[in-house]
Amino acid sequence: MALEIFQFPCLDDNYGYLIHDNLLDQTATIDTPDADAITLALDQKGWQLTHIFNTHHHSDHVDGNLELKDKANCKVVGSKRDQDRIPGIDICISDNEEFLFGEHRIIVQETSGHTIGHIVYHLVDQQIAFVGDTLFSLGCGRIFEGSPDQMWGSLQKIMQWPDDTKLYCSHEYTQSNSVFALSIEPENKQLQERVVEVNHLRAQGLATIPTTVRLEKATNPFLRPDSQEIQQNLKMLGKPSNQIFAKIRELKDSF
Ligand code: ZN
Ligand code: FE
Repeated sequence: MALEIFQFPCLDDNYGYLIHDNLLDQTATIDTPDADAITLALDQKGWQLTHIFNTHHHSDHVDGNLELKDKANCKVVGSKRDQDRIPGIDICISDNEEFLFGEHRIIVQETSGHTIGHIVYHLVDQQIAFVGDTLFSLGCGRIFEGSPDQMWGSLQKIMQWPDDTKLYCSHEYTQSNSVFALSIEPENKQLQERVVEVNHLRAQGLATIPTTVRLEKATNPFLRPDSQEIQQNLKMLGKPSNQIFAKIRELKDSF
């Protein structure tokens, strides 16, 4: 049975995502950037909200939790480590925990770095994942709470998923990320092609998300500390991946 995904813009550059299981008539929102926009989307699809899946506690991800919970009497799912920071949390999830949404298996993985206890939702059988602010297309989340090593470890978890896995991140940052990506790996042909595609999509107001594990491994500088070209441009030839990753993050922070 198919799982339906409904994607819509929220706030300035967030995405709202509803996922719907037809068989058991369950609907989840990934985070709650904007309760009004989510309510409108639910009405548009004729779906009843049964779950909120939070990735982390930042306001642009949990702001609508209480209003939506109050309205729909839905269950709020979030990281056990963030149980004191996620409003209205009902179900606390730990790293590698698996649960069913309708008939679909979801494995939660902890991806600390952007925040401690950031989690991602991997629908393993559908090869779909909601990665919050851990990975962006051509970028990754800022490291607010964790260390660069933690963030690198988290990104490696995502890189180990099958190449065809569709990645839904929480922000449309691809075009601005592309400028930095090109600055440190200008000769990467696939990156050049992706940038053309991204500019074309954005000129029409279209989303660059979802992306895929394959595309990000080929074009996202944060997943490419092994690239000779990046190592050369950073004057870090042969250095360990975690150190190169940390350098890339540092450069991006002041780009
Ligand atoms: Zn965030
Ligand atoms: Fe965010």
